[in-house]
Amino acid sequence: MSAQRQVHILHGVPASAGIAIGQAVVIDTRKIERYPKLRISEDRIEDEMKRFDDAVGLSEQQIIEAIRALEAHNVIKEHSLILETHLLMLKDPALMERVKKLISDEYINAEWALKIALQEIEEDFEAIGDEYIKSRVADTTFVGERILRNLVGRQTSGFHLVDNSIIVAHDLSPADTAILNKNMVLGFATDAGGLTSHTAIIAHSLEMPAVVGIESASSLINPGDQLILDGISGVVIVNPTESQISEYRNRARSYLSLELKLKEKAKEPAITKDGKYIKVKGNLEFKDEVRTVLDHGAEGIGLYRTEFLYLNRKDIPTEDDHFEAYKTVVETVSPYNTVIRTLDLGGDKFYSALSRLINERNPVMGLRAIRLCLKEVDIFRTQLRGILRASHYGNTSIMFPMISGMEELTKAKGILEETKVSLRKEGIPFDENIRVGIMIEVPAAAVIADILAKEADFFSLGTNDLIQYTIAIDRGNEYVNYLYEPLHPAVLRLIQFTIDAGHGAGIPVSMCGEMAGREIYTPILLGMGIDSLSTNTFAISHVKEMARKISIEKCRNIVSHIFEMKTASAIYEFMSKEIMENAHDIFELS
Ligand code: PEP
Ligand code: MG
Repeated sequence: MSAQRQVHILHGVPASAGIAIGQAVVIDTRKIERYPKLRISEDRIEDEMKRFDDAVGLSEQQIIEAIRALEAHNVIKEHSLILETHLLMLKDPALMERVKKLISDEYINAEWALKIALQEIEEDFEAIGDEYIKSRVADTTFVGERILRNLVGRQTSGFHLVDNSIIVAHDLSPADTAILNKNMVLGFATDAGGLTSHTAIIAHSLEMPAVVGIESASSLINPGDQLILDGISGVVIVNPTESQISEYRNRARSYLSLELKLKEKAKEPAITKDGKYIKVKGNLEFKDEVRTVLDHGAEGIGLYRTEFLYLNRKDIPTEDDHFEAYKTVVETVSPYNTVIRTLDLGGDKFYSALSRLINERNPVMGLRAIRLCLKEVDIFRTQLRGILRASHYGNTSIMFPMISGMEELTKAKGILEETKVSLRKEGIPFDENIRVGIMIEVPAAAVIADILAKEADFFSLGTNDLIQYTIAIDRGNEYVNYLYEPLHPAVLRLIQFTIDAGHGAGIPVSMCGEMAGREIYTPILLGMGIDSLSTNTFAISHVKEMARKISIEKCRNIVSHIFEMKTASAIYEFMSKEIMENAHDIFELS
């Protein structure tokens, strides 16, 4: 039978690395499109409200069960946090009160009212259009769909797993993912999702391969189909041939042995063949992730994205909220250093109580990051007080984002000095020698890096934005993302100029953009003279290993060579060849 099934190759986003070979279990997590739409009489309003409350109560119970299941699987804390966020959403007045108001004012049944309320929220979020916000919309949708399923009596979870199952679904909520039994499930493939979706985050921590954003996986794949799931390149092969299976078994074996080797060495320092120590730090978004980042070998936090403190709340964090979060992090990370970046909200960054106040036509060029802080000075001061107070408890640095010129840096430092003066007056201790650095992520800042270097204690290159602004492409726009190229000669020149300018003034230069976490770029960055790198958690061991396997001399030769080249694609091709030719040496592949 299975020999006659057709081979399909599907492509998606590689959300979590690894290779799985198993049997498809297709589960129905699609939105409920067919539900009753009923007009109700006044005397049924109370009953409808009660039905709604009951469905919310049941949803709450299901999420609590999923949290327990996660704890039983010893899955790290942030996943239960996602589910705890879902629990909070169940009580969110924006959704709950709106549904009840629709029931009582419009005389409609609970299902219909819920669908309208969800659509309104989705439209509000869509208008903002950022990748991260999309994953937040997904959270609201998951919660809403769960309630809807409970209202119409359709099963929310519980499907028949077999050994070596690969779950195929339209989308998986963190709750759905949480109840997957790791002993039976090898990985998953979904129609929806992107690199930053929570499903991808959970897949990472469960260390399960996953391919998301396949668009048509759940309709093309049938239950029982044999699958190869390649979470490294984002490919799913449906009903593979025997030779494809044996090829992928070999690939899986090499991948696993490489990961194992890298993991064992993750906490060892990265020292190049010719003896240069390269510090590799981690980027942090949520304070509860700090342990995980350190466990993956981070030697400090090179970028703490504090805007995540503003997420999922309707108010603005208080000084104590800032202080408590930063104190926990710096105490945990010390004696290593934590670079706390001041608020980078605005632009296309995610939705929060603060960004809601701003309505701009071209937000990426607008009131973002330091610009917003210099306008809303009270918010800035509150955060600076929190950071300074926390600096008393561990090795801390401050970093200002999106600096575009000297005036901004002078103003920001001026406000920092005033804040220090008031803390001194109040007798509140802080680190008097706290270092103050800036992100170099606006091309103007890179071009005057020699001027800025005289007023900064360190630089950190934010290549995500530096590339966006240098090549003039919206980093989230799918029509121009083919132009998003870290190896564009203009980007490389700006990076080199920044590093040289920093060193000319005697200050260290780091990089915390995504470019720092891709090992194909590591030789170039080392050859250019970068002092340290700060990457996402899972890239730390890879980047360290690449640094260990190469000499600075070789890296410098690579850099002189690529600076002769005219296009990003030529440089990429050269680098791929360099890495492939040296792959055995670099990764000790057997
Ligand atoms: C960057 O721009 O490279 C960066 C690290 O900042 P963010 O991604 O938070 O904008
Ligand atoms: Mg940035």
